Amino acid sequence: MSFTEADGENISPGFHEECAVFGVWGDPEAARMTYLGLYAQQHRGQESSGIVSLHDKQHIVHKGMGLVGDVFQESDLNRLSGAAAIGHNRYSTTGASLQYNIQPLSAHLLNGPVAVAHNGNIVNAHDLREELKTQGAIFQGTNDTECLLHMLARIPSNDIVGCLKEALPKLVGAYSLVLLTDDRLVAARDPYGFRPLVLGRRPLGDGSFSWVVASETCAFDLIGAKLVREIEPGELVWFDQNGEHRERIPGDTKRMAKCVFEHVYFARPDSQVFGLSVYESRKRMGEMLARENKVDADIVVPVPDSGVPAALGYSRESGIPFELGIIRNHYIGRTFIQPSQSIRSFGVKIKLNPQSEVLKGKRVVVVDDSLVRGTTSQKIIRLIRSAGAKEVHFRIASPPTTGPCYYGVDTPGKSQLIAAQHTLDEIREFIDADSLAYLTTQGMMQAVRGDEKEFCAACFDGKYPTPTDALAAQ
Ligand code: AMP
Repeated sequence: MSFTEADGENISPGFHEECAVFGVWGDPEAARMTYLGLYAQQHRGQESSGIVSLHDKQHIVHKGMGLVGDVFQESDLNRLSGAAAIGHNRYSTTGASLQYNIQPLSAHLLNGPVAVAHNGNIVNAHDLREELKTQGAIFQGTNDTECLLHMLARIPSNDIVGCLKEALPKLVGAYSLVLLTDDRLVAARDPYGFRPLVLGRRPLGDGSFSWVVASETCAFDLIGAKLVREIEPGELVWFDQNGEHRERIPGDTKRMAKCVFEHVYFARPDSQVFGLSVYESRKRMGEMLARENKVDADIVVPVPDSGVPAALGYSRESGIPFELGIIRNHYIGRTFIQPSQSIRSFGVKIKLNPQSEVLKGKRVVVVDDSLVRGTTSQKIIRLIRSAGAKEVHFRIASPPTTGPCYYGVDTPGKSQLIAAQHTLDEIREFIDADSLAYLTTQGMMQAVRGDEKEFCAACFDGKYPTPTDALAAQ
């Protein structure tokens, strides 16, 4: 989580972060593997990127603002020597674009250097931070991960695993962590298991292998590593010169709360998340959607790219042909120069172009993964109608988004979530669709082959697995 500095000392939680972590142990090309692992996970964060490597008990650091491909040059990767490294991609919004917030964060503790890369949000970070400040902690950045470093620094032990076993139970919320010290690499996942974290092995060609840890398995595919298993909720795994070790994070076993939104939108479709192919679960969401919400139409068109697997599922289940009625320009940077004359729908048109050859005179089912503010959908429908579609039936492959995420996905506040403020028919009218339907929570859970008790679907059903009073008050 990031904090925005408002009114001097008064710190309030800002928009949340979406991040990727990566770590490798025992690999002669550790930094290069980390670079590739971050490259494959660019979708989880585009604001900044960083790598810390371990060489001769010293940490070597390179971090910067921007995309992985821009932050690291050949010379940086050459400088990041050593057989172990960790890396992080970060996305955040308001107020948190400080250089210091770029992860991995580093500190020197009793036993030497520690670097940490974190995906997820600690929901009690504000209270922890205030408490640490009264004890004299000097914070340099505005992110929750820094709390963990201060907590570790206060434990009089030089055993990082022991320190983590004492500090982690005090964190409430989501953390998938990778840490590097001067003699080990540690990975930890919170007892709820909100965010994914996977363990793999990369063959080194001489019969040996290196250990790799990542947010998503797509990172393993790129570097030729094999998935061994998920790091379990509440598990600490570490690697040192004696190999792999594991322990439980002490404390009560919480209910599991795997983020269903990873499957709806966030993760790459070619990843296995929570032991399940994201591509297959998205197709099943589309199938369930078609079963629950039939419509007479000529073609099924996805909102590219996020709606494609669900649209395939919808088409397969309904028997309505799948067509690419909207083409996406993949080469959009973060900024573009606006034309001097204002052009209607320019913002979305630079990214999405409707094909009138496909859409003209057709009754179109448009499938997207989620509907948040409704503004994108409104623009897309306008484009589809301008390309000559006769009818537009909007289908959303997830339930109405009615609550913000406190655990690491960037969602706007309740006041901006259209489904939290308006009825189905008001939303349909706002986006100007002939009909609108969402997938039910039960349909979504069937698609992820899940038990509701194992998943967090709070952004859809309001059932937050941790207390949220303090967050709502801040
Ligand atoms: P809108 O309804 O205008 O807010 O936009 C919905 C679109 O945003 C959908 O097509 C989703 O693919 C995409 N989307 C949903 N959640 C997020 C998120 N947390 N960050 C970025 N894009 C998102």
